[in-house]
Amino acid sequence: MEKYDLVVRGKIVGEDRVISGQIGVKDGKIATIQPAGEQLQGDKVLDFENAYVFPGAIDVHVHCFSNPKEGFIPTSMSAAAGGITTFLDMPYDLPNPISNVEIFEKKVQQLEKEAVVDICLWGTISKTGGTEQIVPLAEAGAVAFKMSTFETDAYRFPRIPDPEILKAMQLIEQTGLRAAFHSENDEIIVDMIDEYKQANKVYPKAHNETRPPLTETSAVLKLMEFAYWTGVKLHIVHVSHPRTIDLIKQFKAQGVKVTCETCYPYLLLDVNALDEFGPKAKNNPPLRHPEEVAGLWQHLEAGDIELISSDHAPWGAEHKDPGKDNIFKASSGMPGVEIMTPLMFDSTVAKGTMTPVQFAKVMSQHPAEVFGIPGKGKIAVGFDADFAVIDPEAIWTVDENQFRSHSKISPFHGKEVKGKVIQTIVRGTTVYDGEQVTVEPGFGSFVPGSAYKGAPVGGKRGL
Ligand SMILES: [Zn+2]
Repeated sequence: MEKYDLVVRGKIVGEDRVISGQIGVKDGKIATIQPAGEQLQGDKVLDFENAYVFPGAIDVHVHCFSNPKEGFIPTSMSAAAGGITTFLDMPYDLPNPISNVEIFEKKVQQLEKEAVVDICLWGTISKTGGTEQIVPLAEAGAVAFKMSTFETDAYRFPRIPDPEILKAMQLIEQTGLRAAFHSENDEIIVDMIDEYKQANKVYPKAHNETRPPLTETSAVLKLMEFAYWTGVKLHIVHVSHPRTIDLIKQFKAQGVKVTCETCYPYLLLDVNALDEFGPKAKNNPPLRHPEEVAGLWQHLEAGDIELISSDHAPWGAEHKDPGKDNIFKASSGMPGVEIMTPLMFDSTVAKGTMTPVQFAKVMSQHPAEVFGIPGKGKIAVGFDADFAVIDPEAIWTVDENQFRSHSKISPFHGKEVKGKVIQTIVRGTTVYDGEQVTVEPGFGSFVPGSAYKGAPVGGKRGL
């Protein structure tokens, strides 16, 4: 009988059903999937009994370097502990955004030395005159391109003017990659914040009031119309409002290749969290009203939202505390890679509102398909042996002080969660054993995007 490097037993979440079974792994890849019964032989055998063996979660929206104190090591260790086996790192880094090949390749080298899970890298363009870097970045292995219609920082996180968006979309269309946007109307938001500040309306909920839903929906409408005429594959990041999804459905029906994500805080919190937690609950776009959150859930359960991401933003107290007396002074965003997967499990599968198969689709399969990541995203023969093992009965409490991320500031601190990540496996190797990260920095591998033209990527993934 054939012997495998690793045999994993448990409730295996496949593409269309869950089986009590076993997976044989060879050279980091899934070699066979069998029902329980005659036991496969392995050099190492992990029997998870009644725990679910999910495909490893793929988080398409992570910011390792928006805070220089973070970086690949803390974020990827945090991701490993959160059942994330691959993430896509955003390009709005300090000190420089990832807007040319030289910066991109440096980041690849750093990733290969520091990551403990696998990572894809986003590219971006500078505010003006940067579109000639699109094709070279795609060929260097960028997984997709992120741009913004809202200006957080003129250099690092700029608002891209419409003529540049149009040029960028035409070029990105040629690469076959996806153009993704932070979609908020800059002018209206800036104007409203000015008015609020002048009136000294700087209480926490002012953050929500100065970014009304139309600032999201109108920005998305423009981008979808641009995508209609250019044919580019469009992705809308962090959708916060159900009407945005209504509009996306209309454009999809017209053949526009548009996908979207929401982030776990938009599903699990509402605007009242701003009163309760202050700057900890500040993110862009803002948390919405309870009935709007209910609308997002309806869309998620109807399958209208392809995937869920974290928008992990590793701010420290120094970025959040200035907002205690004036919400506009706090940085936007919150950490998420360590808690997103179990929190979403707790609020879906554990509550019976989603099957494990549906959960695997929004957390793993769709992210891999939307961004064209080969060999990732599902438990199927030939795919990377990336697994997130979740004990559905284990109950635990979120403790922000235990996060492996530099950011230990979470509105979910103290929340009781049903469903715990008890093991994370990347390419057949345990990277997290339920308590500790068990590999050294550098175990993780760069995963190039589908337009990659470089040399075959190092031995780690065997491509
Ligand atoms: Zn983000």
